Parts: sequence; C-alpha cells; structure tokens
Amino acid sequence: MAMLLHACCGPCAMYPVDMLLEQGRDIDLFWYNPNIHPAFEWQRRLDNLHRCADHFSVDLIEGGDNCLQSYWEEKTYLADYESRCHMCYDIRLDAVASYASENGYESFCTTLLVSPYQQHELIRHTAEQKAEIYGVKFEYIDFRPGFRKGQNMARDIGLYRQKYCGCIFSLESSEFRDKIYRLFGTPGSLASTSTE
Ligand code: SF4
Repeated sequence: MAMLLHACCGPCAMYPVDMLLEQGRDIDLFWYNPNIHPAFEWQRRLDNLHRCADHFSVDLIEGGDNCLQSYWEEKTYLADYESRCHMCYDIRLDAVASYASENGYESFCTTLLVSPYQQHELIRHTAEQKAEIYGVKFEYIDFRPGFRKGQNMARDIGLYRQKYCGCIFSLESSEFRDKIYRLFGTPGSLASTSTE
C-alpha cells in the first residue's frame, strides 16, 4: 500500500523521496499549494516538482487549484487560526489527507517536515488532526536532518530553488523582494497574475 506524500516544491521533495525509496517504500507525490503567489511562480514550482518526480520515476498527482490569491487574502486573518501559517498548513494538509482517504492510500505525509524554517510542530499537530478527521494514517517523519543534502541534490540536477516561502506576505518580506519584483514586474502586475 502506498504513501501519499504532499510536496511543497521540488527541492524540498528531493531528500524525502530519496530516503523513502531507499527504504523500499511505494510513494506517490501530491501537489496542492494554492498559497503560492504569483501564479507563474506557482507554475514554476510545479514544473520543477515534475522534474523531481521524473528524476525518481514516481507518480505526481496534481491536487487542484492554482493560485487563489484573492481567497487567500480574504481568509488570512480568520479567527479559527493561530497564524497565517497555521491556515496555510491546514488548507494543504486537509487536501492531502482527504485525497489519501478517498483513494485508498495507507498513509500520508508532507515534505514540509524537511524544512528547518517551517513550524514543524504545528505542521505535525495539524496533520494529526486531519488524520483523525479523514480516518487515514499520518506517518510522522522528521526529514530535517536531510535538508541540506536535499538542497544539494536539487542543485545537482539543476532545480529552481526559490527565495521565499510562497505567499505574497513572504514575498513582501523577503530580502530578495526587490530583485524578485524586477524579475516578475511591479506589485501591480503581480496582482494581475493571480488567476482569481
Ligand atoms: S510564510 Fe509560508 S507557510 Fe507561512 S503562510 Fe506564507 S507560504 Fe504559508
């Protein structure tokens, strides 16, 4: 029985996929990241995840919507969430747990657990809640010891390695913001690249 592994991007998927395949695990990758802004950055990360999937010869399932920036901006400060990142994890982990449950996967996990920059315990807690809701096993794996190895593997195969987490807020606060805007265009044209 397979594990459904949610992947936030190609570089973060490299180490977890390599490690799980080394262990002889059967895995499918799952893309669902409507937090990523602007839309063509969303597409670029998806394209690079396809390159990662091809590299390892694993299947990649595209879980749906592309950039939902207006939804994101409207809902961000809902009182149900402790933080914007909590909402961001919740949206994505809900989708992977739901898909895993409906499609007969043995378990699910996420490559968000490889990053030392993410809120690891909050991701774990949110995933455990989703496992209970959807009646599918969440397999907790701390991938963080392999973070650097995975980034090096991504560089070795020429994957695009982004300079901000994904949402417009992380883009605005990135030290690379001005450079990124020069590449993408002005903030006004950024907004127009959203698909909703
Ligand atoms: S900083 Fe990253 S995890 Fe937090 S809301 Fe933005 S994209 Fe999501």
